[in-house]
Amino acid sequence: MRGEMVAVLDFEDTGSGDEAVDLARRHLIQPWPTAGAIGAEARGLIGEGDGIYITDGKGRRLIDGPAGMWCINVGHRREELARAMYDQAMQLSYNTPWYTMNEPSAMLAQRLAAHAPGDLSHVFYTTGGSTAVETALRFMQFYNNARGQPEKKLILSRGGAYHGSTYLSASLNGRPRDRDWMDGADGLVVKLTAPNPFRRPAGMSVEAFCDFLVDEFRDAVRGIGAEKIGAFIAEPVQASGGVIVPPENYLKRVRELCRANDLLFISDEVVTAFGRLGHVFASGDVFGIEPDMITFAKGVTSGYFPLGGLMVSERLLEDLRRSNHPDAMFAHGLTYSSHPVGCAVALKNLDLLEGGILDHARKIAPYFQARLKTLEELPLVGEVRGMGLMACVECVADRESNDPLQLDRQVGSRIDAHCHELGLLVRPLINMCVMSPPLIITKDEIDDMVTILREGISRTMEDLR
Ligand code: PLP
Repeated sequence: MRGEMVAVLDFEDTGSGDEAVDLARRHLIQPWPTAGAIGAEARGLIGEGDGIYITDGKGRRLIDGPAGMWCINVGHRREELARAMYDQAMQLSYNTPWYTMNEPSAMLAQRLAAHAPGDLSHVFYTTGGSTAVETALRFMQFYNNARGQPEKKLILSRGGAYHGSTYLSASLNGRPRDRDWMDGADGLVVKLTAPNPFRRPAGMSVEAFCDFLVDEFRDAVRGIGAEKIGAFIAEPVQASGGVIVPPENYLKRVRELCRANDLLFISDEVVTAFGRLGHVFASGDVFGIEPDMITFAKGVTSGYFPLGGLMVSERLLEDLRRSNHPDAMFAHGLTYSSHPVGCAVALKNLDLLEGGILDHARKIAPYFQARLKTLEELPLVGEVRGMGLMACVECVADRESNDPLQLDRQVGSRIDAHCHELGLLVRPLINMCVMSPPLIITKDEIDDMVTILREGISRTMEDLR
């Protein structure tokens, strides 16, 4: 069986969705295609969503394990969100953001600032996560130009990171495969070690690993020179790198190093914000840090509308206002910045989160983590890790060495394929499966999810035998 492709996810026989699948094969380029199938592949047709469930082209009802792409936080088919979009579109569907403004964008900015840590008082809205990260990086460049420090532009990023698919944001990415065939602004980026305790050197304690990461950071700044480095960017929990929860206090310690060396700390909360870790923002409420900037997207509208944004510290704005170049322009803006429909749906989404879903997410998270952890009983599973309502099941070929490399690289896809048959969508990442369901998931539904996942992994073990 080893090496044989798993059929289910080719969707050769997607059934009732045939016409759409055919059209897609002729006319659609899906994200992340491989050269051999580009423009001719059609991945799984999804017809409907409802609560934590989606229905595929064959009419099979599946638990939406990854909540789309970590984003359907309040669940599918929320009438309140649909109405908020309709009402706003009927009132004002668009305004030109650089010489007029609209009410929902201001009201949302005020509510986000109230949740943000420290003095992050202002928001710049974007169209999603990549544009939010791009905005943060360009803001850092502008800030240092206006402050008279044009040499201070390098960005520290980390292995395992994912920050987006625009040119500069993608240059920060550190996951395997992301950069194999793609160019990037390599001269602008320095990569540090992924803060992944599971992959720490053999024999090293987690505390010593944390010291190692902090020392590496300090040495990099010393070696390069703080006057050349503009920013450090980090997902508080690396999401698509495999739900990497950093060692305790790591974020606080590197935050201090940034402050001491005048580097801007950008917390990329595209995944971790809006309830995934039980709070609107995780940087302050979960990790006790006050970044200079926070990027967000996804859960801000629970995926119902493409919206993202950048929260910026009042201190940075003050520095700019006092700079010697009051006429310097931050020449950066998007046609859809501050979109009234996006901001209106985000306001309603925030009502839902504050109205009980954040509380529910905080209460149910320990159960979610504990139930998934039981999968470590299976010999194929090297580690189940996570935080809040995000988790990763990492498979290994050999539990002694935690070696993932000899493992069939389709193992995540195999588990996904079996789970699909059984009623669960999982997000496969080479040898890992990521789970991040809608935050409204109940204990019974978590039980269903884990039962299916256990069976999917067991069937995969049979395949690999
Ligand atoms: N940052 C993080 C942490 C992400 O996980 C993602 C997407 O998954 C992005 C940025 C890019 O967001 P988008 O796909 O909305 O451009």
